[in-house]
Amino acid sequence: MEQTLVIIKPDGVERKLIGRIIQRFEDKNLTIKEMYQGVISKDVAESHYAHLKDKSFFPELIAYMTSGPVVCLLLEGNDVIALVRQMLGATNILKAVPGTIRGDFACSTTENIVHASDSPENAAIEIRRFFSHL
Ligand code: UDP
Ligand code: MG
Repeated sequence: MEQTLVIIKPDGVERKLIGRIIQRFEDKNLTIKEMYQGVISKDVAESHYAHLKDKSFFPELIAYMTSGPVVCLLLEGNDVIALVRQMLGATNILKAVPGTIRGDFACSTTENIVHASDSPENAAIEIRRFFSHL
């Protein structure tokens, strides 16, 4: 059984989409192993997005990710990493098709509602980062 890290980003919480997003994961029969709401520190946000630190949008991305509470989810299921990435939709908002979370709810490539791990290696790192008490 695989595990992945999902974050409902500040705009998803602010727009009161927590329930509807979690509903999609439950409808897919994925298991919520752990979950909490909290504000991400600047340090954690910068580590989480370290691979993007040279991009022009990095400061805006960090400001956005630390602008309010997020909901962190540890999800478990068969092939859950690839499955959840599919459910999120593309990063580029113009390529996020209807039926995906971003396709249905996001209208900005930066403020795009949700994060999910993109590989087994990153899932392990991100689960340690956001569920360090486990
Ligand atoms: N992002 C952005 N502009 C871009 C690409 C990405 O603001 O051109 C933001 C967006 O919030 C995205 C995050 O940076 O979710 C991480 O980017 P990544 O390429 O890892 O996309 P993801 O894995 O979230 O689909
Ligand atoms: Mg990514």
